[in-house]
Amino acid sequence: MDDGLPPLREVIAAHGLAAKKSLGQNFLLDLNLTRRIARAAGPGETFFEVGPGPGGLTRALLAEGAARVVAVERDARCIPALEQIAAAYPGRLEIIEGDALSLDTATLFDGPVRIAANLPYNVGTALLVKWLTVENWPPFWSSLTLMFQREVAERLVAKPDTEHYGRLSVLVQWRAKAKILFDVSRSAFVPPPKITSSVVRIEPLNEPVADARLADLERVTAAAFGQRRKMLRQSLKVLSPDAEKLILAAGLDPTARAETLSVADFAALARVFFN
Ligand code: SAM
Repeated sequence: MDDGLPPLREVIAAHGLAAKKSLGQNFLLDLNLTRRIARAAGPGETFFEVGPGPGGLTRALLAEGAARVVAVERDARCIPALEQIAAAYPGRLEIIEGDALSLDTATLFDGPVRIAANLPYNVGTALLVKWLTVENWPPFWSSLTLMFQREVAERLVAKPDTEHYGRLSVLVQWRAKAKILFDVSRSAFVPPPKITSSVVRIEPLNEPVADARLADLERVTAAAFGQRRKMLRQSLKVLSPDAEKLILAAGLDPTARAETLSVADFAALARVFFN
């Protein structure tokens, strides 16, 4: 990648960016790998990157032709390194110093935006839920390309009757389609995390797969998966004393367990329990 910028190892040394565990910092230094992620995040004009760190993915997005990248980073130490990238790509990179979790993302963009991020997994999951639960649908983003721990990635794509199927699977698959693109080995990161990561791409569906109010769906899945080994007639009692009758009204078996239900089944429960 001939962007005239120094190798990332030199950037990290020059700016004293020793990885901070508290910020979940595991940096990607291989620009071929960050380019692969950038290509997976495209094609697009405008990108929103969360947690650019020393800028490996940021540089790749710009080198791959992004017209505009908005990047939000919490660690003030990274800002001067990111400003060097902005200078190498005049007018194309905007840097925001702050916490992505409290940023009102939807109002930053007036057209479709592709989101790309390599984040600590707790922040990544919280942001994913934030982006999936926005009021307007289709949402302000046209795709999410995110790095997750392999196990979290498996939860996003899990089907009923499998080990990883749960609340997050239902929430994602109700309004979007998720795909695991490729794994990234621990050794690609500095410092290496404990487990393998996966790059996931999520695209919004035009409409949810089955009608329901989001808040109702979340209440039903929280109750059902909160006690995932119990039969529905037991686990859903917290929502209504008439749980058994309501489950039958939704056309489902009260002795079934949460993990056997499809996304459409959960939507049916959300409708009968709260309408
Ligand atoms: N994108 C870089 C890369 O791939 O090398 C850095 C990845 S590192 C796993 C995660 C980055 O997210 C760090 O730079 C960290 O400071 C930043 N970060 C963590 N929590 C954040 C938050 N709430 N808002 C914005 N950035 C955050």
